[in-house]
Amino acid sequence: MNTKRIIVVGGVAGGASAAARARRLSEVAEIILFEKGPHVSFANCGLPYYLGGEISDQEDLLVQTPEGLKKRFNLDVRVNTEVVAIDREMQEVEVVHLPSGAHTRERYDALVLSPGANPVKPPIPGIDRPGHFMLRNIPDTMAIEKCMKDHAQGKAVVVGGGYIGLEMAEQLTKRGIKVTLLEALTQVLSPLDPEMASLLHRELRRMGVTLHLGDPVVSFDEPVGREAGASVVVLKSGARIPADMVILGIGVSPDTTLAREAGLEIGALRGIRVNEYLQTSDPKIWAVGDAIEVRNTITGEWSLVPLAGPANRQGRMAADNIFGKKQKYLGTLGTGILRVFSLAAGMTGANAKTLKKAAIPFQSIYLHPSSHAGYYPGASPIALKVLFDPTDGRLLGAQAVGKDGVDKRIDVLATAITSKMTVRDIAQLELSYAPPFGSAKDPVNLAGMMGENILDGLMEAAHWDETDKLDPDEQLLLDVRQKPELEAGKIPGAINIPLPELRSRLSELPKDKEILVYCQAGQRSYYAERILALNGFKVRNLMGAWLTWKAANER
Ligand code: FAD
Repeated sequence: MNTKRIIVVGGVAGGASAAARARRLSEVAEIILFEKGPHVSFANCGLPYYLGGEISDQEDLLVQTPEGLKKRFNLDVRVNTEVVAIDREMQEVEVVHLPSGAHTRERYDALVLSPGANPVKPPIPGIDRPGHFMLRNIPDTMAIEKCMKDHAQGKAVVVGGGYIGLEMAEQLTKRGIKVTLLEALTQVLSPLDPEMASLLHRELRRMGVTLHLGDPVVSFDEPVGREAGASVVVLKSGARIPADMVILGIGVSPDTTLAREAGLEIGALRGIRVNEYLQTSDPKIWAVGDAIEVRNTITGEWSLVPLAGPANRQGRMAADNIFGKKQKYLGTLGTGILRVFSLAAGMTGANAKTLKKAAIPFQSIYLHPSSHAGYYPGASPIALKVLFDPTDGRLLGAQAVGKDGVDKRIDVLATAITSKMTVRDIAQLELSYAPPFGSAKDPVNLAGMMGENILDGLMEAAHWDETDKLDPDEQLLLDVRQKPELEAGKIPGAINIPLPELRSRLSELPKDKEILVYCQAGQRSYYAERILALNGFKVRNLMGAWLTWKAANER
């Protein structure tokens, strides 16, 4: 059994993980790794940071080399070698050594496909103009680096506000290049809900990035007249943006060429279909990484989640299963994080858009706690959104944006979601605390306590998107901040009674109307809500208060 001949297609995240794990399970298996590019096991996630100069040595991008993999794991690694066909009947792959063009066939007992995803290149006129780049591998990186050097004070257009687009916008700006970021949707980073993404828009603009949202590219034209640069990017609105370089970060689509041609099942989202053991429709062939469709852990629906963590874990699991371990892949939460200048944005589980689409009932809570104890220097706010099932409190998703401590909260919440915890459970979590690191009630605990208050009827939630639909005959908006705080703005139509005066001014408020109460961050409005509710008023608390409302309304 352990003398298998295992062939792996793709030598980076999923492929290299599968091959290395397979070796740890068998000293006698023959393991051949084919990679069509010149490098294996390179740090694709590090490429933007190399371009920005944060990673200074190109060698640092090479996590492993073919020689290293041979020495450490006794893997037969063949770079610049493309697998061009799978003969399932004969259990053979056809491979081409790209430099020589030589074709050979190799037999397999088990085949692992980890070919990754291809950058999306829509048929927009002029998309192949010179000075246009996509970023997937080290050769792409070197081409971009050369152009950056040639246009050190130049102008770049980044098309697409996803992970790669945002990271590139940040890194190009750091190198002194003037960046315009284009996004066809009305927000960047679509795994975030819009009111959370808005915080990133603010940060991008603060750092000098020009944003065009909700305005798709219609063509890339040759510069005319006084227009300079390699291309002029033309938007649906008619705007023309000249650029010395254009980075296309429009998304990726699973590379299914081999699988499709071999007749393996392909899903509706055009990823390779696998079962819970990561086996394709052919039991001798496993597939992992960006190329496959995975079940969304929350909705149970098929989805595409091109992230390094899942690819690495799936590679390891495929090797386990080749050796009979029967490990089940439980689905993907989509836990992710990225940095946008001084902010980190992280998310896990489902967002409101996904839950609405899947018709899953949810409640959202927002908090703006400090990253650590407010009295200890350096604390900064985290905007935290937590989504849960209002019937039983089960956690469904979380998003966080802030300068510090985002990774810790998102990872705790990802763990909690995986463990099927409820808001009541996370209210009880015992998390590490000393003033430089957190608060005695961690933001995760606070989110749990808020959720618990809602489940117990101690807090009724209102949301930012209700405030422009209020019926003045039936509803009243109450701002309980101190007067000086109102100078930064208030929600139109709100009356102000500062919290310390509320008990003595209850007679000014109507008992026949529903009161929606808010403050700056949500804490004082909860105290106000309790005062009002205990005094017989009909009241709801505007989740996230002024800070969330403002972010949602300034997009
Ligand atoms: P890949 O790692 O892409 O490897 C696939 C390999 O297969 C390629 O090298 C390709 O050349 C090779 N191949 C394809 N077809 C064949 C064939 N027929 N024969 C031989 N070889 C073949 N994810 C995160 O979680 N966090 C991040 O911060 C992050 N940053 C990223 C930044 C960039 C610039 C990029 C490009 C990706 C980033 N990702 C990030 C995504 C992450 O890198 C991918 O999800 C992960 O690498 C997918 O692993 P994979 O094995 O499926 O595919």
